[in-house]
Parts: sequence; C-alpha cells; structure tokens
Amino acid sequence: MDCIFCKIINGEIPGKFVYRDKNVVAFFDIRPKSPIHLLVMPIKHIESLINISFNDKNLLAEMTLVVVKVANKLGLDKSGYKVIINNGKGSGQVVFHLHMHLLGGWHETPHWQV
Ligand code: AMP
Ligand code: ZN
Repeated sequence: MDCIFCKIINGEIPGKFVYRDKNVVAFFDIRPKSPIHLLVMPIKHIESLINISFNDKNLLAEMTLVVVKVANKLGLDKSGYKVIINNGKGSGQVVFHLHMHLLGGWHETPHWQV
C-alpha cells in the first residue's frame, strides 16, 4: 500500500517517534505548524473518520488517551494545546491515514482559531 504513514510506522521511512504501543504511534510532523506539532495515529490503516466503524471505538479512545499522555510528557498540559483531525480532501487532508494533529508550545494564546 502506498501510504507514507504506514511506511513511517513500519520503518521504511524515518520518523521522530515519541510514543509507540501495539495499536497507536506518535511522531513529530515534518513541517510543524506550531512550536510543537505531533501526529498521533492508529497503526491500523484507516483513511479518516469518514471510514471509521463502531468496531473502532476502543481504538479512537486509545488515540485520544495517547494524545493526552504525549501532551503531558511534553509539558503541553501547562500551556494548553489543540487537537485537530482533517477528514477528506475538502478539509485539507493530504495524507489519507487517520491522524490527530497535536499542536501546542505557544508562549501566548495563538492568533489563529479553527
Ligand atoms: P493532513 O493535512 O491532516 O493530512 O496532514 C498531513 C500532515 O503530515 C502534514 O502536517 C504534513 O506536514 C505531515 N507529513 C507529511 N509527510 C510527513 C513525514 N514524512 N513525516 C512527518 N510528517 C509528515
Ligand atoms: Zn497508512
């Protein structure tokens, strides 16, 4: 499968990982949009929330808990952070392997809002 995130997960392409367990990984975004910008995603290839099924409910909960764990580890809980998921071309999604953007590290409230 020609998926860049699957290739990062299986080691074909390098990634700067901060977390990995049997279902979920987290690594730094290569083109950060904030001082700290990580991507948290399932190891299982799911395109987006558009393709999620009820059977994935535990996986979605695990991803959310990993976002929190990684945010705490990097001290983002002190300053606050954003969690964003793009779903589908119309939203700006460019990599079609479900991922949560974890954005933070600002010293002041960011000027932009979503
Ligand atoms: P999205 O627009 O939600 O699909 O976001 C895809 C994200 O993947 C963008 O923020 C890219 O900067 C990031 N990205 C693309 N290629 C890589 C890579 N090789 N390693 C890490 N992040 C990447
Ligand atoms: Zn994939």
